Amino acid sequence: MKSWWQRRSVRFRLALWYAAATAFVLFAFAWFVYEVIEHRLGADIDRQLRSDFEVVEAQVDLDAEEGAQWNVHGAHGDEPSPTISAWFEVWSDNGELLLRHVPFPNTSNNNVSLPAPTASTLKFRTLKFARGLLVRVMEGPGRVEGRSVLIRVFRDQMEIRRTLGEIIKVSALGFPLAVTLAAIGGYLIATRSLRPLDAMARQARRISSESLSERLPNPNPNDELGRLATVFNETLARLEASFSELQRFTADASHELRSPLTALRAVGEVALRDGSDPVALCETIGSMLEEAQRLTDLVDALLTLARMDATKADAVREEVNIASLLDEVRDQFEVLANEKRQTLTVTCPGDVTVQADRTLLHLALVNLVHNAIQHAPVDSQISIIAMRNANEVDISVKDNGPGIPCEYHEKIFERFFRVDKARSRAHGGTGLGLAIAKQAVERNGGRIILEDNSPGGSVFRIQFET
Ligand code: ADP
Repeated sequence: MKSWWQRRSVRFRLALWYAAATAFVLFAFAWFVYEVIEHRLGADIDRQLRSDFEVVEAQVDLDAEEGAQWNVHGAHGDEPSPTISAWFEVWSDNGELLLRHVPFPNTSNNNVSLPAPTASTLKFRTLKFARGLLVRVMEGPGRVEGRSVLIRVFRDQMEIRRTLGEIIKVSALGFPLAVTLAAIGGYLIATRSLRPLDAMARQARRISSESLSERLPNPNPNDELGRLATVFNETLARLEASFSELQRFTADASHELRSPLTALRAVGEVALRDGSDPVALCETIGSMLEEAQRLTDLVDALLTLARMDATKADAVREEVNIASLLDEVRDQFEVLANEKRQTLTVTCPGDVTVQADRTLLHLALVNLVHNAIQHAPVDSQISIIAMRNANEVDISVKDNGPGIPCEYHEKIFERFFRVDKARSRAHGGTGLGLAIAKQAVERNGGRIILEDNSPGGSVFRIQFET
């Protein structure tokens, strides 16, 4: 049943829900109306019985010789006697039938005889006789000419039954019609309401990797479908941005890989052509190895980024002592810095720690310090300072190089972005160092910023909230 239900279209299911809800409401309403009418008609007939009872009490004469009889004159002897359409009986206290009045003697009512009433209080009941005859009966003690008697009045309930039967018949006929109309109406409304969804589905089906700039139609962004289209369009925009970033990255990577390869080939071809001089050959092999090293560095950097991209989950963190990590980085770069007569200083209290993946944090610092050494002039100082502030740990790498102009501060962490391409290549830079540093820090839950210090050098800051 569930799978049958799920296989139906939404508009079909909505139409059925709508029809079911209408059926329920109609049924409840019809039932309520039926109950109210039945109660009202029942109360009416009881009121009539009470009035009949009083008329009987007033109009019946008790005569010792002639017995009980219907008084032909009015209560005051002049006005015509009130007629009574009810069927009634007057009984004596000791169970003797004194008078019986049947308005339509030829009807089946005439054949009905009931035992003497015993009620000492007024009592109403409904009796069912042969051939479906329904009669409402009221009986109880009354007084006729000062003598206590038992009076029983009857009223035919068939009329009420017929009225109620009519109501049931009309409801039974109208009910399926109303429910069918509700189902059709529900289907039409659902079709109309879901039409924008169909248009969206058609448009979404047309969108491919070549047409990611297209968007879903969104005539009313405030309704539910409009909000869905907005969310979908935002997702498309993000997808488009990632896609074009990926395309740009692939193009950049190919270009970066092609440059050393072209150089390798050109140098090799020249060596082949005039390869008689062993000194020139040695030089050629030297520059070919240089290009090969550049290629290796580039491929290593690309692999590092790809590995970080592939492992989407956060890095596995441990408590890292920053002072010992910075000492390690300084030791690693001491020789390189000495070559340029640069001083590498580390300032860090011994108890500063962060929760991080040590290898990733080391990778980020290596890239920052390496850049600082490359860009800072000879005889300058590079400071690595770490400290714990109120609610964060801050590690900064500061150099006295040319700095980075403000307009590049946003782009500097993009893959393959360089301020001075030729200079970077000449240093053997891949253009991926800062992108790797940023990714490594962010994977540890931190952030990396470039402080505006141009032209007085660069200050890169790594910050971790604690
Ligand atoms: P690269 O391999 O070229 O160094 P990076 O991603 O590490 O690539 O750096 C990107 C660019 O940012 C560099 O080409 C350089 O122009 C600039 N840059 C990075 N660090 C510094 C720095 N400390 N001082 C000045 N410029 C820098």
